[in-house]
Amino acid sequence: MEEQIRKAAGLILNSRYTTAFTGAGISVESGIPPFRGNEGLWNKYDPRFLEISYFINNPLESWKVIKEIFYDFFGQAKPNKAHLALAAMEKKGLLGKIITQNIDNLHQEAGSVEVCEFHGNSRRLVCLECRRKYPSDGMSLDHLPPTCRECGGILKPDFVFFGEGIPQGAITCSYDAAGLADVFLIIGTTGEVMPANQIPFIAKSAGSKIIEINTEPSNFTGSITDVFIRGKAGEVMQKLAIELFTASLDNDKDGINENFEVHGQ
Ligand code: NAD
Repeated sequence: MEEQIRKAAGLILNSRYTTAFTGAGISVESGIPPFRGNEGLWNKYDPRFLEISYFINNPLESWKVIKEIFYDFFGQAKPNKAHLALAAMEKKGLLGKIITQNIDNLHQEAGSVEVCEFHGNSRRLVCLECRRKYPSDGMSLDHLPPTCRECGGILKPDFVFFGEGIPQGAITCSYDAAGLADVFLIIGTTGEVMPANQIPFIAKSAGSKIIEINTEPSNFTGSITDVFIRGKAGEVMQKLAIELFTASLDNDKDGINENFEVHGQ
């Protein structure tokens, strides 16, 4: 693994623009399970509660499950070392943008600013009638379904349900960041969800070197990945960040502490 990490660090340090692309695997060490696999959410919950047509016809039934998964349970999660390392890379000028498929807001909580939310964000609610948006923090979920203060319409989490399109702003943000990348860092995604799984191919076609971190090979590993680092996102990113920051800080003697807070900006 050490050799692969050194290779990845070398590519990032020589890159003019690096983009990260993250999936559910990056948040597993924060206690949020992925959708698929033995421990996946779909082994416990029926995915139809997240279908837009089911939600519109049965908002109360959907909301009971949504509240349990995304607010009672995900709401407690904190960023892990992988999220923190990416935020520190951005601060140090070693990362341009993160494109995330995740809806847990953990990149933003870690301090990342340039984030394309391809599938939206569970920390916002949107009114199905007037499209007004609310931070979920300020909304009581004691009475379900929650409703809009302005028009009384039903509120839906502002993430993309099955059967909904990807917001145009998220597509533009993500495709631009992929097309610009000299280095494209894929972390913790199977590459099975369309159309998000096309984004790494945009980067590859634009000449990007692909680095991938995952506990298992993915759909990208045997096809477009140049450097595959097998391991948990938090553990690998911690090692990669130390390698990167040691090298990039050689001249200015700045440092980072073990929580990836960057000193001497
Ligand atoms: P997925 O559930 O299909 O696959 C998870 C991937 O992460 C797998 O390739 C697995 O091998 C890898 N993985 C598991 N633990 C890991 C770890 N500790 N470190 C690195 N990799 C690890 O996830 P997906 O491909 O992102 O697609 C599922 C869709 O559902 C996406 O839209 C995803 O963002 C969304 N989702 C989001 C969350 C979240 O917001 N945290 C959680 C579940 C699903």
